Amino acid sequence: MPIFDPEQIQVANGHFIGGTLQSQAGAGIAVARPSDGKVYAELPLAGEALVDAAAENAWRTWKNSDWARCAPRDRARVLRRWADLVEADAPRLGVLEALGSTRPVRDAIAWDVPFTAEGLRFFAEYADKLGGEVAATRHDNFGMVVAEPYGLIGAITPWNFPLVMVSWKVGAALAAGNAVLLKPSELTPFSCLRLAELAVQAGVPAGIFNIVQGDGRTTGDAITRHPLISKMTFTGSTRTGAAIMSACALHGPKPVTLELGGKSPQLVFDDARDLDKVAATIAGAITGNAGQVCVAGSRLIVQRRVAGVLVERIQALFAAHRPGATWDEDATLPPIISRPQADRIDGIVERAEAAGGSVRCGGRIVDGGCGGAYYLPTLIEGVDGANPAVREEIFGPVLTVQTFDDEEEGLALAAHESYGLAAGVHTADIGRAMRAVRKLEAGTVWVNRYGRSADFVIPTGGYHQSGIGKDLGRQAVEANLRFKSVLMDIALP
Ligand code: NAD
Repeated sequence: MPIFDPEQIQVANGHFIGGTLQSQAGAGIAVARPSDGKVYAELPLAGEALVDAAAENAWRTWKNSDWARCAPRDRARVLRRWADLVEADAPRLGVLEALGSTRPVRDAIAWDVPFTAEGLRFFAEYADKLGGEVAATRHDNFGMVVAEPYGLIGAITPWNFPLVMVSWKVGAALAAGNAVLLKPSELTPFSCLRLAELAVQAGVPAGIFNIVQGDGRTTGDAITRHPLISKMTFTGSTRTGAAIMSACALHGPKPVTLELGGKSPQLVFDDARDLDKVAATIAGAITGNAGQVCVAGSRLIVQRRVAGVLVERIQALFAAHRPGATWDEDATLPPIISRPQADRIDGIVERAEAAGGSVRCGGRIVDGGCGGAYYLPTLIEGVDGANPAVREEIFGPVLTVQTFDDEEEGLALAAHESYGLAAGVHTADIGRAMRAVRKLEAGTVWVNRYGRSADFVIPTGGYHQSGIGKDLGRQAVEANLRFKSVLMDIALP
């Protein structure tokens, strides 16, 4: 049963500059619904001149408005009002999100939108707690460290959780008193326009939060290089993050926060309590959003004694999934973002099989009964760390299985040569859990659970090639500030 009719949903389309939606005709980018592959809009592409005009306007607005100068409590009040409006708009925002992305509408309304609102509230709480400090100096001097916003921040976001990813970047930057020029993913460009509209309604001055639409090569690159943008914040693939970082080095240098890809292990010891719960956690961490999650737990590393029974239970959970459109009430597995991405996943699985791996279930693309590209949850055994299925970020519901005998071997298998975004450890032994926490080179380690809930005070970010800097937490807000040192001679008589 469809929860809504995709043909009946109108989307606002265009750039959002100076507080208004600017629709532009002309050559654009065809935007398709992942659920059924149908093109439903033509997205305008902002070239260098438009990015320049938008940046200039945002920077001037920031210079002349009270946004950076007002009492931080006033900024906090606006952000809280924004969060309230977002929450109240959940039915509409949730449908917009589900229409154009891989987020099932039920989840979008019950999780993505409230999570977006709660994130904004978290950043609001930090706005007036960023006071700088008084430093110890000679007794005839005063030393102060004053926190100041950068000015205009450039933000570039991915397609996998469109609203949530935008809210983390924009919420932190605005709480710290900056203006933002955002380029969302060209695959999911529309729900953030509604977010921006609600920001203005809440009292964010027009021109402080701006959106330009377009691809990475033209629009994203023009933002990154723009001289009025003093800092970049990016979430996406490691390869794009590296390109953005090198552009920031050449056209600045300017600081950059990078939230990048991962290949996260789930380490299960044979003393783990409640294997049913462990199986559900592991299956959920790779089938949620069809595995299109940066922290997807994509490598199961399990102690030999419990491997057989655990894999059997995970397989049963995989088999129970029903692929279908984001608006389909009965579907439990959402689409892959695009057909080429589904083909890429399939290619990696085929190569794993050709290299001697055994595909225990899944391993193929289906159309979900509606013309989209859906990848059946897949378990691969018998592949080693050199195989691309174990090494590369797949970004689909594909779980590899490796077994070990002792703790040392398990931890060695969990290590990854380049990624270090997240890891899961399942054990009843607290000492073993803490040894694993110490040894795992990952930005987040979950013990006897996996995945983020509303723990906004805990930052998220990667080690190694999974990123630089943090989203969420105090660290995210501080990353949107620069610190001025003031030394004052008080001329004692
Ligand atoms: P992507 O790198 O292809 O694109 C991300 C964004 O960068 C898009 O808006 C794109 O248009 C833009 N872009 C592309 N090339 C650019 C360039 N040269 N200059 C400037 N901008 C450019 O990533 P994606 O496919 O949209 O997202 C999936 C990736 O994002 C995965 O690797 C996933 O792990 C990662 N991700 C990481 C986190 C995290 O918190 N670490 C969260 C979500 C997604």
